[in-house]
This record gives sequence, structure tokens and C-alpha cells, in this order.
Amino acid sequence: MTYDSIIIGAGLSGLTCGLLLAKSGRRVLILEQHSEPGPVVRGFLRRGIYFDSGFHYAGGLGEGGPLRLLLKHLGLVEKLKFLPFVADGFDRLRITGSGDDIALPVGMARIAAHLSELFPHLQSEIITFLDEIEERWCDFPYLNLNKDFTAVGLASLDELSLARRLEVFSSAPELQTLLSMHALLYGIAPQQASVTLNAQVAGSYFHSAHGIDGGGRRLIDACLQRLTESGATVRCRADVVQILSSDGKVAGVQLADGEIIAATEVIATCNPALVPAMLPAGVLRPAYRKRLEQLYQTPSALILYARCATPTSTLRRTNLFVCPKPGTLQVALDRTLEDRPMYLAGADHCPDTDGTRGVIAIIPADFDEVAARQNSTGQRCSEYLNWKKQMARRLVRHVMTSVPELGELEPLDMATPLTLHDYSRAPQGAIYGVGRVMGQYNPQPQTRLPGFYLSGQAVAGPGLLGTLVAGYYTCGTIMGHELLRGELRTCR
Ligand SMILES: Cc1cc2nc3c(=O)[nH]c(=O)nc-3n(C[C@H](O)[C@H](O)[C@H](O)COP(=O)(O)OP(=O)(O)OC[C@H]3O[C@@H](n4cnc5c(N)ncnc54)[C@H](O)[C@@H]3O)c2cc1C
Repeated sequence: MTYDSIIIGAGLSGLTCGLLLAKSGRRVLILEQHSEPGPVVRGFLRRGIYFDSGFHYAGGLGEGGPLRLLLKHLGLVEKLKFLPFVADGFDRLRITGSGDDIALPVGMARIAAHLSELFPHLQSEIITFLDEIEERWCDFPYLNLNKDFTAVGLASLDELSLARRLEVFSSAPELQTLLSMHALLYGIAPQQASVTLNAQVAGSYFHSAHGIDGGGRRLIDACLQRLTESGATVRCRADVVQILSSDGKVAGVQLADGEIIAATEVIATCNPALVPAMLPAGVLRPAYRKRLEQLYQTPSALILYARCATPTSTLRRTNLFVCPKPGTLQVALDRTLEDRPMYLAGADHCPDTDGTRGVIAIIPADFDEVAARQNSTGQRCSEYLNWKKQMARRLVRHVMTSVPELGELEPLDMATPLTLHDYSRAPQGAIYGVGRVMGQYNPQPQTRLPGFYLSGQAVAGPGLLGTLVAGYYTCGTIMGHELLRGELRTCR
């Protein structure tokens, strides 16, 4: 069978592209190397607790929020229930050894009032900083339907880094930590992240913060239902090794088992560094090929999934960022685990499981910490498994010391950079794939090979918001941005 569109990867971006293209009447096939669709996001069960893996909360899902509009247009809103995070503190910061946590309330005005009360001598600087975030956080034509496309993709090379911007708060190092901690959610150190990138991620959460009832798994299942309703096909264990071309345009793909599937459009949503090896030699210009291969990959992570001895409300619809010392966030991977920042989330988004006991702790880590622990064929040796157990115990101790109110914790599982690599194929298990570091032009959807496009978090940004926007951006490039934006306007 010939498809109109083949999409490589059934992550959030691939599923979004599939939904949009199927909605337009195309015959769509989504190919996923993993055994299940949405492998990064679909979470897993351990001892009766559902743990989310690649989705804990999202910004912009509030009533009238731009992410909610995209989900509505995709036909997903009626299939999902959004869970508002704690209004007085959806995110909290704990600086090791200091007094009380600092909470971030939901809503720009409430954040401004709360921070001005805590740091009165910086009130006007705080308000200016938040105004800048408000101005930039949805500065993309699929989030702001009044904005045009002329400036999209042109990263400003002379923009301030977040670290430089936060120098104005040097008399309040805790405030610098609070306003830079969301760098953990996009994987770029504040020294290399632009103020715009930070505004896009942090700003969406400042606006509203929600989880999804049933977690990432419910989100993926809702996408799959809609895809079935639209006649699209999703195939798993379908490892694309070649993107085929004929007569100067894309012709389909070849799978690892040799199967060839023809299509007139192919969209790669996998990490773009993987794309050059899939294309016949000469299709990409050498400079572009090199650019894709050398894109900045975000660090990886160690992720602990643990069970509290007794149910806890400490992380119920609120996250905790634990930072070893005040000042602009340092994501120094050469420091010991205990000296790195840590993000903690609860696991209670699945009401039919024992989630009020579940704790998830994410600490940035380097692939090199595990690379040597697999053999030359990529097989995990017993040394790796022992190391993983030891690290899980060490992380549990660290979490119990940092957040004693959680009580006794039992490690149930752990993800390492190798795990993250298995689930996404991202080089070195990059947690958010290709990041948007300052000075780098991230790839655009259009490529030199007619009919072949890129999408995924590298194109627009990480997270549910970034990946949905990436899907719209790529499909808008194919079908016409004004067509999609027109449809979105009618959904408001
Ligand atoms: C630990 C963690 C926590 C996170 N928490 C949040 C959160 O709370 N909120 C939020 O909004 N975001 C969060 N994110 C980010 C979010 O999960 C990602 O931004 C998003 O899932 C990326 O989607 P994607 O489709 O661009 O990429 P991916 O999900 O990586 O999809 C690419 C797909 O391509 C497949 N693939 C690769 N190569 C091939 C091939 N050759 N053939 C076939 N298939 C292939 C991969 O298996 C993969 O499924 C988190 C991510 C992680 C890892």
C-alpha cells in the first residue's frame, strides 16, 4: 500500500503530525522503533503505582490557554481531564540548608505580588522581568494567532542569556535560583539559554500548571484513539533505517527487516542527529549534514522511581526543585550527585493506582557515567545492573535527606542515560533531545529533499507545548500555515 505520509517516530510530535495530516484526508502511517507508541511519555506501573516517565505537568492548559486550543483542535480535549496544580505553589524551591521553601503561585499577577512581598527591594525589577516573560512566552504564530511568520526560526544571536539577565537580582541569590530553576525542564544551563527560551517554558507554567488525569499514558491513548478514528495506522517495532528518494524527491522508507514502504511525504520526528545516516549520500549538503550531526544535545538524567512507606501529600500536584546552593542554577555534571539540582514530582495522576505513595526524582547526568557499563554490542552487563541498584539506593538516601517529610522511601526502579536512549534513541540519552542553545540555529521543517520534512522537539521546543507546536509548524509548512491557523481560530 502506498501512503501519502509516513511519520518516523510515535512520540508526541509524531502523533501530532499524524493527527493533523490524517485530519486533512491523507493516508498516514506512523512508524515507531519501540514496542509501544509514545515510549517516552507513556509511563509504567511498579508495585501498583503508575509512574509518569516523560510527562508530569504542562503550562498553557488553563481555560483559554494556547495549549488547550491546540488539543481542542486535535479533538483531544473531550478525551482528557486536566488536573490543576496547587494554586498557592505549583512549583516550590528548596535550597539545601536554608529555611523555608519558596513557592510559585499560579498566575503572573500572583507571582509578581508574592515575589515582591518576599523581595521588596527588588519589586520593580521583578515586575519588569515578569512583564518580559509575559510578552515572550507564547510568541510563536501557533500560540499567538495574531503573530505572523516572518521572524520564525531566526534566533537572535545578540539576545541576553538567562544568567546575564538574572544578574540584576544578585542581591537576592535565592530569587536567582527560583527564576532559573526551570532550566531543568529544558536542559540548557542558564549561561547558554536565552531569556526567550526560558520565557517560553517557564512562562507557560507561570500562566497555568496542570497534570492530566491518567498521566502521559492517557494522553498517548487519546491520540491513538483519534488516529484510529481518522483512519491513520501506527506500527511499532518498525525501525526505519533508510529514507528513500527517487527522481529527486522522497519516495518512502526502508525498515531494518528490509521492508520498503512507499510514500509521497516523509516526516522525521526522531532526533535530527540521526537523520543524515538515514538519507542516501549526496541528498543533504555536507554543511547541513554536519550541522544536524553536531546540534547541541541536552544532558541526560538519572531518574529514581520510589515508594513512600505512607501516602504523602508533599508532592501532590506540586513539584519540588531542590538546589544545593543559592544563585543562578548550575547544572554542573562534574559534581557529585548530591551537589546537582534535582526535580521531584509526585505520581498521583492515576486515581486507580496507589500514586499517593509514588515519588519521582530527576537529576541531570552525563552519558559517560554509564557508557562504560555496557559491552561493545550495547548489552547491559551485570556490572551495570549492580551499579544501577547502588545508584538507586544512593539517590533514595539523597532524596530522604533533602525532603525528610517524605519519610522512608523504597527504590522501585531507576532510569539511566542508557534507558533514556533506549526509549527515544536520542544520542547519549539526551533528556530533551536537541536543545536550543544560544547561537545555534535549530533545524526548520523544510529540507532540501522535496517531500521530506523534520519535526520534533528540536524544531520548536521541548515539552507537550513545544512538541505540539513542532507538529503544527511542520504540518503547516506542508499544508499551509494559514489553513491551520484559520482552523485554530474557529476552535476558539
Ligand atoms: C524524564 C522526562 C520528563 C519530562 N517531563 C515533562 C513534563 O513534565 N512536561 C512536559 O511537557 N514535557 C516533559 N518532558 C519532555 C517531553 O516528554 C518531550 O519533549 C517529548 O516527549 C518529545 O517528543 P518528540 O516526539 O519530539 O520526541 P520523542 O518522544 O523522542 O519521539 C521520537 C520517537 O522517534 C522514535 N524513533 C527514533 N528513531 C527511530 C527510527 N529509526 N525508526 C522509528 N522510530 C524511531 C523514538 O523511539 C521516539 O518514540 C519530559 C521528558 C523526559 C525525558
